[in-house]
Amino acid sequence: MAKIKLELVNLRKEFGELVAVNDVSIAIEEGETMALLGPSGCGKTTILNMVVGLETPTGGDILIDGQSVLKVPPGDRNVGLVFQDYAVFTHMTVRRNLAYGLKIRKMKQPEIDREVSKVAEFLSISHQLDHKPSELGASELQRVAIGRTLVTNPEILLLDEPLSNLEAAMRNQMRRELRRIQADTGQTIIYVTHDQIEALSLAHRIAVMDFGSLHQYDTAHNVYQYPANRFVGSFLGNPPMNFLKGKLTEDGGKRIVTSGDSTIPLPAGKLGSDVSVGSDVVVGVRPESLNLAAADDPGRFSVPILAVEPQGPETVVTASFGDSTFKVIVPTGTDAVEGSSISLAPESDLVALFDAESGVRLLDSGERR
Ligand code: ATP
Repeated sequence: MAKIKLELVNLRKEFGELVAVNDVSIAIEEGETMALLGPSGCGKTTILNMVVGLETPTGGDILIDGQSVLKVPPGDRNVGLVFQDYAVFTHMTVRRNLAYGLKIRKMKQPEIDREVSKVAEFLSISHQLDHKPSELGASELQRVAIGRTLVTNPEILLLDEPLSNLEAAMRNQMRRELRRIQADTGQTIIYVTHDQIEALSLAHRIAVMDFGSLHQYDTAHNVYQYPANRFVGSFLGNPPMNFLKGKLTEDGGKRIVTSGDSTIPLPAGKLGSDVSVGSDVVVGVRPESLNLAAADDPGRFSVPILAVEPQGPETVVTASFGDSTFKVIVPTGTDAVEGSSISLAPESDLVALFDAESGVRLLDSGERR
């Protein structure tokens, strides 16, 4: 295992009665990009602010290279923060903006010039060095904001929704750019976003948060394919994960979930200790993990079709499972008619089982990566 660069240990922040960050523990390896992902207000920015030293935790600890930094002033933590709304000085040229952090560190002018040229070239903004921010486009402005932080060579780079003000096409381009920065600088990065695509495409590991609490911290693959609870399953994925309510049942030694006349088979795996046959459960299965079943597929199940909506090469079929409705995507031309039934086979490892009340994952199946 690589060296742990940054560790949050039971990190907590209360603003009066409000628990903005609720005992969050996360270890980030050196050179790794970790995405803090969650809806607005879940505590992402508050975590960044505590790491950089702009907010003081009300509990827990923050370790950099194994040492607590709670008593280290912000300027001495070697952590760089890039804000969401391009923090650039509008009255200064790009060159002076980039040089600012080095000037306050009292670096000598020839060295400043060298470092500024280097970072400008790295971010493809050399031709804009003598222009003012008002003359720049949105993506160039964001490069200047990133450059202002990169030039100071922080060991840990914190990016707070850095692409949220860019248009979709620019966002894709900057995402590629960030991947290059990541690969070329080898910096440890915390990337804050509420955009699951950004998190899945940029991060090695994702911390999924809601209301100040950490719901899951794992690789992008595992968070997507093996959600720890129903919230994580519903927050990631577009179209979202399907949730089918039913009762856990056993049929000839095999676990199934039933509701009304419908039945879905479950994968083999270790079942939580406080769940038993007859429990109310929720099956979580992503639309893309449901395939049309071959006639002899032992894992097949049939459900009534409620609606068929062709959308070009793909058709969205809405089906019912007891009282729940769910969606599945099939190739257009598939024999699916409203009022008839469809026979499906789930990719068995990717069927999740959640507790009906708490939403916690009950069945440990499949291979984590
Ligand atoms: P967003 O994506 O909207 O920036 P976030 O996930 O970054 O949201 P935070 O900004 O960390 O969330 O806020 C977490 C909670 O703490 C919110 O309920 C917010 O209103 C509250 N909060 C943040 N800063 C303060 C403060 N200085 N005083 C009081 N409450 C605060």
